[in-house]
Amino acid sequence: MLSGQSVEPPRLAAGLHIVATPIGNLRDITLRALETLAAADLIACEDTRVTRKLLDHYGIATPLTPYHEHNATEARPKLLARLAAGESIALVSDAGTPLISDPGFKLVRAVSEVGLTIHAAPGPSAALTALAVAGLPTDRFFFEGFLPSKDGQRRNRIAELCNIPATLILYESGPRVGRTLQALAEILGARQAAVCRELTKLHEEVRRGDLAALAKAYEEDAKFPAEIRGEFTLVIAPPTASEAVMDADEMDAMLRKALRHASVKDAVSDVAHATGRPRREIYQRALALSEGEDGAAE
Ligand code: SAM
Repeated sequence: MLSGQSVEPPRLAAGLHIVATPIGNLRDITLRALETLAAADLIACEDTRVTRKLLDHYGIATPLTPYHEHNATEARPKLLARLAAGESIALVSDAGTPLISDPGFKLVRAVSEVGLTIHAAPGPSAALTALAVAGLPTDRFFFEGFLPSKDGQRRNRIAELCNIPATLILYESGPRVGRTLQALAEILGARQAAVCRELTKLHEEVRRGDLAALAKAYEEDAKFPAEIRGEFTLVIAPPTASEAVMDADEMDAMLRKALRHASVKDAVSDVAHATGRPRREIYQRALALSEGEDGAAE
């Protein structure tokens, strides 16, 4: 039980415990997360210095071991061996829910494959926190995480997101947020969005508006780097029904026109270039159109 600043651990079931930790405000941790961290035989974490700070704040002295993308291949079998011996291991990330744009998926898969138990102590995640304050539809949402950092790949990925009939949630870093908003405004058009910065922290800020206006605001901020420091989650409204239909119709019209005077390969290239959409999607549409048109001619 939690008493003052110290935690008396209860008995903890053997197995892997996925424990969510705060995304900023250290008080955003559940009593069960604290009890689990205090009672575990071992805590696997991304950066031991970050997790030590959290544990020190709550007077927890459980030993730590690093588990991150650079050592996971060697660390995983050692964790599995300890779990197989009946120990309880907590997995945390630097902030928020492990596995969500953070390490842990392969560990959970490996633990489940050998038939050991996986428990969760749920808690904060930047994605849901941002969705909760954005003021955008919450009935359907699509979590994209980080877009690719290279410009061309990022634009192709945004084009793939274009027709998803759901609110989009993206993670982004401060230095890239202006360029990402610019690309989102160019490819997704005039959608409403919320830029959620430093949620639950001292400099928490949520800016709402259409993508182009937000892109402009962050372009201006780029001249004042302090303003764009921090951690960002972007939430973007779904396409309206007419937007999604118009996009598909427009692409078909463009493809039909191109197919009149070019091979499928060249037509796909031209339309991919003009729309920024992935070739694979356009190629499938071009095949469907040319088959449909052949059939109609017979
Ligand atoms: N597993 C974490 C979770 O559940 O939220 C996310 C880890 S991911 C490596 C880190 C990214 O989450 C940041 O780059 C940022 O995009 C987003 N993020 C984390 N904390 C945030 C905060 N306080 N405010 C806004 N976004 C945040």
